[in-house]
Amino acid sequence: MADKKNFYDVLGVSKTASQDEIKSAYRKLAKQYHPDFHPGDASAAEKFKEINEANEVLSDENKRKQYDFELEHPGMGQGGNPFGGFGGFSGGMGGFEDIFNMFTGGFGGEAQTARRGADIQQTVNLSFLDAIKGCTKTVSYTRNEPCSSCNGTGAKGGTAYQSCSRCGGRGRVKFQQDTIFGRTIQVGACPDCGGTGKKILDRCPECKGKGYQRKETKITINIPAGVDVDSSLRKPRFGQAIEGGECGDLYINFRIEPHRLLRRDDRDLYVTVPISYRTAVEGGKIQVPGIDDTFEMNVPECTPSGTQFCVRGKGVKTVHGTGNLYVKVEIEVPAKLSREQTKKLNEFEDSVSLKSCDKMSKFANSVSAIYGKKIEKQ
Ligand SMILES: [Zn+2]
Ligand SMILES: [Zn+2]
Repeated sequence: MADKKNFYDVLGVSKTASQDEIKSAYRKLAKQYHPDFHPGDASAAEKFKEINEANEVLSDENKRKQYDFELEHPGMGQGGNPFGGFGGFSGGMGGFEDIFNMFTGGFGGEAQTARRGADIQQTVNLSFLDAIKGCTKTVSYTRNEPCSSCNGTGAKGGTAYQSCSRCGGRGRVKFQQDTIFGRTIQVGACPDCGGTGKKILDRCPECKGKGYQRKETKITINIPAGVDVDSSLRKPRFGQAIEGGECGDLYINFRIEPHRLLRRDDRDLYVTVPISYRTAVEGGKIQVPGIDDTFEMNVPECTPSGTQFCVRGKGVKTVHGTGNLYVKVEIEVPAKLSREQTKKLNEFEDSVSLKSCDKMSKFANSVSAIYGKKIEKQ
């Protein structure tokens, strides 16, 4: 009891967490530490047990109330309450059914397949434009692929097996368990067939009865327009095959190369266009880079440097809608002027009065009011 971890800490939720928060934290962790994903890893198995224990208590409002009471009244648990302390909560089979449901996507019904191979994550490199427009990519990776000679059954010819009589081929059996909370029915792996649901009469010589072989799998994927670095495509059953179970899934993630001019944020695109002082003052047409080509945009007269224009609908098209293109113009100051040019520039600047520069004259007025100093055009 003393070394027992706090159930709230185990699930990483607050003491006031709602049932939904608890459920979601539990599912996330249970998936992460599921023994199928960590074969032979004792610490993951221990963690998985802890998560199930914590969930068993916190997901039940009555048990949770009692647990909260014990947390606030340490010492009461040792024989002081009818449960005899929460050290008595054995992880055991707790929560298993929930996990099966989670993996098979069902709720309430009895899970048909409990064993499932691990998921595989693959990262695909895309150019900036491929991600925006969509493309087709072929991905190859090595996995445990279902054996083609036995159709993944592990039995010669795919037929040399019988259904396990104990579990009726389902691979799971119900266990009755008497706990301090009464009789509970739990579902677990069938001890006769080890959860495969099959009794193999003659092993497949290709895969030696495992039902899978280590192979390179090639898959062609249609990548929809508008995918981003946080998008992920799921290809069901293209993950790891497992003995007597269903394949895991393949998840495709994306690495997207940057564009030389455009920057993307979700559906919106951003570009900075350098313009001359003259265009900023007089206004004029500029070429703006878009997705497929450049297009002409009008800069109005007297445009300050750093002004951002929104071009509607020129962003990324996705199923959720189309973004905009934000065009920022920046006045470029020439790096070097000849003596002649400097002379002309001075003549020009001298001819422009402070009055015609709105911001500068306001600035000069403020300086005069606060500091009592008069400043010229600068
Ligand atoms: Zn069985
Ligand atoms: Zn085989």
